[in-house]
Amino acid sequence: MSEINKTMDPISPFPSKIVMSGIRPTGMVHLGNYFGAIRNYVKMQEEFECYFMIADLHSLTTHPDTQTLKSNVRRVLAENIACGLDPEKATFFCQSHVYETSELYLYLNMLAYKGELEKTVTFKDKARQHPENVNAGLLTYPVLQTADIILHRASLVPVGKDQEQHLEMARNFVVRFNHRYGNIFPEPHAFNYQQELIKVPGLDGSGKMSKSENNMATLYFADDDDTIRKKVMKAKTDSGPTEMNAPKPDYIENIFMLMKLVCSDDVIRKFEEDYNQCTIRYGDLKKQLGEDMVNFISPIRQKTNDILANDEYLVEVMKKGAQKSRESAQKTMELVRKAMGLNYF
Ligand code: AMP
Repeated sequence: MSEINKTMDPISPFPSKIVMSGIRPTGMVHLGNYFGAIRNYVKMQEEFECYFMIADLHSLTTHPDTQTLKSNVRRVLAENIACGLDPEKATFFCQSHVYETSELYLYLNMLAYKGELEKTVTFKDKARQHPENVNAGLLTYPVLQTADIILHRASLVPVGKDQEQHLEMARNFVVRFNHRYGNIFPEPHAFNYQQELIKVPGLDGSGKMSKSENNMATLYFADDDDTIRKKVMKAKTDSGPTEMNAPKPDYIENIFMLMKLVCSDDVIRKFEEDYNQCTIRYGDLKKQLGEDMVNFISPIRQKTNDILANDEYLVEVMKKGAQKSRESAQKTMELVRKAMGLNYF
């Protein structure tokens, strides 16, 4: 360890648990975002110091056109608040307002290797989807994400299953940084109250719900009641099991998983029994699931619209979030510069 590191202030690598997570403003918030991430934000804000972010810089890696950014950022802010995120309890901010992120991202880039970045599953997927725009920002996405998290010295990261590999990479970058410059950062871990990280499947029986991939397979909080019913009725099923207690094909398992998110235990039990007895009627199941989805989504949609109508409030949330997150970021960056020996006077 260098002279600088030996003389550093002793600080705990494990401060009291801090929480950080983000969501990209690349489209409308959907059921997967809620059950994978936002539901945990709402619970965690009661217990921990929390930083939640609209990841507008991340969105530039795949959505370079910024024309719709202002309205998308507002919508995602409003949708999170409508889901229960409380800007009085958590620090809720836009990534681009925290300039310190870019500085830490730069330093971490020196500790991230091309080979490991190229192997990242999300990079490979996105490079395949957009071969015309395989930019360096896309390649170093996990580095920027690590900067976002450790800028607040967070260790708990509520995210869906798709983020598991990024969190593993974040831990590697942190271990490298701490090894080289001294123990500044706690190791971040993906977090879900239900233990297992969640992947909310698409209604078409393949993949996951997502902001941009397949509109008909994803339930958005902005969908009106009829659209929700229509999407659920179109979910992939078949003519039903022909043997009692048969294992469920993936697309049927997915529908039962969606039921578990919004239907009552009695309803789930009834349809499980019907399935096992080969008496299931998927039309009835989808009708019930559609109604339960409408009951779950429509109050959030209405609340979102009320919040969107109050732009002054949203601007206030952004300003307050920017101030609070920058205070936390500046403290960390002082430690980082000192640890790295970038404090010349
Ligand atoms: P993104 O929409 O990619 O910005 O993701 C925001 C958060 O939602 C991240 O924590 C993701 O892991 C989570 N998420 C996105 N889609 C899903 C899904 N289908 N199931 C579970 N979590 C998801």
